[in-house]
Amino acid sequence: MKTIDFTALARQNIRSLTAYEAKEIPCRIKLDANESPVAPVISLDPKVLSRLNRYPDPQGSALKKTLAREHGVMPDQLLLGNGSDEIISYLITTFGGPVLYPVPTFSMYGITAQTLGEPGIGIPLQSDMQLDQRKMVAAIRKLAPKLIFLSTPNNPTGNAFQREAIEEIIRISGGIVVVDEAYQPFSREKSFIPDIKRFPRLAVLRTFSKIGLAALRLGYLVADSGLITEVNKVRLPYNVNALSQALVLASLRQKNETRAVVKEIVSEREKMAKELRGMPGIDVVPSDANFILLRMPNADAVHAALIAAGILVRNLGSAVPNALRVTIGTPKENAAFLAALRKIMKERS
Ligand code: PMP
Repeated sequence: MKTIDFTALARQNIRSLTAYEAKEIPCRIKLDANESPVAPVISLDPKVLSRLNRYPDPQGSALKKTLAREHGVMPDQLLLGNGSDEIISYLITTFGGPVLYPVPTFSMYGITAQTLGEPGIGIPLQSDMQLDQRKMVAAIRKLAPKLIFLSTPNNPTGNAFQREAIEEIIRISGGIVVVDEAYQPFSREKSFIPDIKRFPRLAVLRTFSKIGLAALRLGYLVADSGLITEVNKVRLPYNVNALSQALVLASLRQKNETRAVVKEIVSEREKMAKELRGMPGIDVVPSDANFILLRMPNADAVHAALIAAGILVRNLGSAVPNALRVTIGTPKENAAFLAALRKIMKERS
């Protein structure tokens, strides 16, 4: 039988794309995907299971009401997504490009822009991993991006961007500025959600994926109600399933437990950063997130040696050459990672 060249059949902008890599390498200790090391204990309202024949609430009204109260906004300022990934796609579908973002950053901004046939523009960060404000401002003035994505704290560098720089970008921009706060719960910096009142073109993206509920795929956008109305036009019907809606709602009833886990992760991050800073040959990027970026020579070899020791971290490859991103795990996992890394670095020196 003749093989079909499906690549040739795909739309032109899809042909040169490579799929987002969520590689599953089985390892004893998994510190590669910025997940929480602790699964929350939540019970599912049995009523949800008795209604599996029905579609979920298309608006996610109960969840939006609770989230609105939590953030001091109105429910019509919220949009729920099947992960914040889906909302990134909706935003680019709604507002189009050019789409501007610093690099390195979360790869889905660029991948989704290309998928949707919109130009993506990456502006390199400075060597201290802060925004290159001069270049950002110049690009905004020259290219008039319809959307700007700023992940703060930034993935994969872990640092939070300076608030003044973000505010200037919002002020001079004629498009939408999306502040992606996936890692905000771990940050020393304040959220931008209260700033939406002052800056109507600001939209803030949040997710439950980093605070214990990655399996549920639930993200949300907080913005001006007019902005939400536009994005709602492209949202797929019933995009958030009933089990996720109910379980996230249940988790919001035990916020103290979630907060305690976040607090422990932050404290472990500080301990881990201190230990790593004491290791020769490793450069530690200061982190406000639930992971730390480490720069080192021969990161590929160190990555492989860690896998051989049963520990999986993220090798950033060409996105950030010679850098590994390690997610903060339980105290036991972190100790095992530090011991393995110390041994590997000693053997290589
Ligand atoms: N934004 C950032 C900055 C991220 O790092 C991630 C996850 N890696 C996401 C958004 C997507 O999160 P989710 O789709 O799980 O909500």
